[in-house]
Amino acid sequence: MVLVYADDEQLAYELLGKGREIADELQVPLKAVIIGGGQEKEYINHGADKVFVVESPLQHFKAEEYSDVLANIIKEMEAKVILIGGNKNGRELASRLAAQLNAGCVTDCINLSLDGNHVLAEKVVYGGNAIAIHRFISEPSIVTIPPRTYDALPAGEREGEVIRKKIDTKEYPSKIVNVEEKKAESVNVEAAEIIVSCGRGLKKKEDIQQIEELAKILKATVGCSRPIAADLKWLSEDHWIGLSGHKVKPRLYIALGISGQIQHIAGMRDSDIVVAVNKDADAPIFKMADYGIVGDIYEAVPLLTKEFKEKLGWLEFINKVTFQKR
Ligand code: FAD
Repeated sequence: MVLVYADDEQLAYELLGKGREIADELQVPLKAVIIGGGQEKEYINHGADKVFVVESPLQHFKAEEYSDVLANIIKEMEAKVILIGGNKNGRELASRLAAQLNAGCVTDCINLSLDGNHVLAEKVVYGGNAIAIHRFISEPSIVTIPPRTYDALPAGEREGEVIRKKIDTKEYPSKIVNVEEKKAESVNVEAAEIIVSCGRGLKKKEDIQQIEELAKILKATVGCSRPIAADLKWLSEDHWIGLSGHKVKPRLYIALGISGQIQHIAGMRDSDIVVAVNKDADAPIFKMADYGIVGDIYEAVPLLTKEFKEKLGWLEFINKVTFQKR
């Protein structure tokens, strides 16, 4: 069987979408685990044949406890492939689980396929300059898949089985005594449909205002390249897109003064339509842009803002071009 676990519902649905494909190819059932209860019917509607709902006293994520729970469930069945949601918790969980099950593990997989009965997992390596293809030679094959790598299947009324399991956890040497939510800026680039993204082409922090103005007209979210968030700290890390930042999949991605290094591309290559503005005609971003303006962002951004402000038909235009491409 193929087993899916993610501590985030949307991510679990994305994994179930890919899991369904792999399970059908291997002709095995697709199962999922929910720890602490939740949307079991939705899991089935998104592709799971069987859902294990673990009723346990666990309140907060702790990798050693969660990996024990999963190992406990997996022991009772023949798991061929285990897909774990590739967020921070999932990466920690997957490696522990792999050690417990003496299994192979590939984290941050960007593409998953089968070579006969063997799983092939692709992963970006050498700072984004190469892609390694891992071929599993043992089972189970444990893979973590980052958010928005795959689309969830459209939810439909499906038949499936829900099994409730009570698992008592043992005493662990460490205990979480308090959890404080990080005060986020309520920016969620990963969920954004339109992103206006800026890079080192900006000369000073105050100029971000121009980017924000364009984003506001387009009802878009502001994104940025690594230097803007990590080095210059002009925007928070919530806006950072790329290999070491957020992976995004908007309908429209506007890259302003971004050169398009492979590490940035790794985070936005799944955008439906890419528009780039760069004064260097040889900038790598143009190789993957659908539309390009070779020019100065300080001229192009006010012009684009003015055009979009005056022409109310922009949304229809975006819909038309993105749907044409799909
Ligand atoms: P630059 O490469 O400096 O490009 C600026 C661009 O702006 C140039 O193309 C220039 O022609 C153009 N420009 C300048 N002035 C103007 C103007 N007035 N009008 C129009 N165009 C103008 N980067 C990320 O973005 N995300 C990541 O997650 C990430 N992770 C990394 C992980 C590792 C392990 C490593 C080694 C690097 C990572 N990087 C990441 C960094 C990455 O390699 C690049 O350095 C970075 O993406 C460059 O950002 P940039 O395009 O904004 O800046």
